[in-house]
Amino acid sequence: MPRIGDLFVNDDQGGTRNTTTQFSDSKSLWRNHVRLRHNEEFAVIKFLQDCDDGDKTLFHSVPSVSSSGKTFTSYEFCSDAAANNVEGRVFEEPCEHCANPDLNDENGRPQLRNRFRYYVMHYGTYHLESNPDIKEQREWTQDWKSVEVGRQVYFRETKLQPQVLELSPGTWTDLSDDFKRRGTILDKVYEYRRSFREGQVRYKLIASDIKVPNFDEQLAVVSADFPPMIDISAQKITEIDFPVLESTAKKKEQEVEDDAFEKMANFEEEF
Ligand SMILES: [Zn+2]
Repeated sequence: MPRIGDLFVNDDQGGTRNTTTQFSDSKSLWRNHVRLRHNEEFAVIKFLQDCDDGDKTLFHSVPSVSSSGKTFTSYEFCSDAAANNVEGRVFEEPCEHCANPDLNDENGRPQLRNRFRYYVMHYGTYHLESNPDIKEQREWTQDWKSVEVGRQVYFRETKLQPQVLELSPGTWTDLSDDFKRRGTILDKVYEYRRSFREGQVRYKLIASDIKVPNFDEQLAVVSADFPPMIDISAQKITEIDFPVLESTAKKKEQEVEDDAFEKMANFEEEF
């Protein structure tokens, strides 16, 4: 897999071009993180690693501006933090953010925050609006299915794909409490929800009663090839290829359709 550093060699408009690439490239790390774009949306997931087996890494909070002019916090991996260099993994480049006085506290010390990462099975995301890309009708545009959860109508984007879930310390603490109380986080389906409360975007994990297909066997096979999570946190790799899994129910549905099609074809033949 290519190193992120290689992408920037001889690339005059590196920044812009690479940002565009990560949106359109289905294998980019950015596209393979569970993301909620709007408040009150949620993703249905199941953890593939238990609470203590996730990646806990230190990042700099860097104030950034998006191409559309919105300000946001970019979390940049710290290659100097001793905690990030466990198991003999020493990153060659010194951390540029540690050297930036604007990011340090009044004593000149870098301010670092933990982010937590887990491999999860992402079944789908429940949106409040139908797919905004539908009018563009690109070949990959998915028509989100309208479903009711409780009394609310959602538009369900099917994923059925392993992905990376990144958690803030606050959201992780709730998860960790759940783990301490019950001894595992592997046994249930969670909703990862985005909301807006007291002037802030917040994320929380709650138990879900939404029924999901069982992919245990397939996941045991595919998860063996997942790279060490620190390589994703440190962006040492730039791409990841998570397979889309197919449920037995969906397969059956397809077979029935194929069957019907064949019968129809035969019927045409007889004519
Ligand atoms: Zn640093």
